[in-house]
Amino acid sequence: MTGVPVLVVVFCDDCGVEARGDYLGPSRAARIAGARAWLAANRGWLIAPGLDLCPTCRPDAPAAANDVRTASDLPDTSANERS
Ligand SMILES: [Zn+2]
Repeated sequence: MTGVPVLVVVFCDDCGVEARGDYLGPSRAARIAGARAWLAANRGWLIAPGLDLCPTCRPDAPAAANDVRTASDLPDTSANERS
C-alpha cells in the first residue's frame, strides 16, 4: 500500500503560475519532491533548491514551444488549369 494520490501544487517563483498534479509518496515532502522532479523532466521547469521556475520564466527557456515547420519542398500546383 502506497496510499492514494494527493494533490500537489507547485508554484512558479517568478510569475506564480500553478502546476497541479496528483502524486504518490510516503510523505508530503516526498510528494512535493516527486512533483518537482516530474515537472523538471516532463514540463521543462527549472527546479533548483529553493527555486521553482516555469518553462517561460526560466532564464534559459528553450524554444521548444515554437514548433514551426517550413514546407519549402511542397510541389507548386497553383498553375493547374482546367477547362
Ligand atoms: Zn513563471
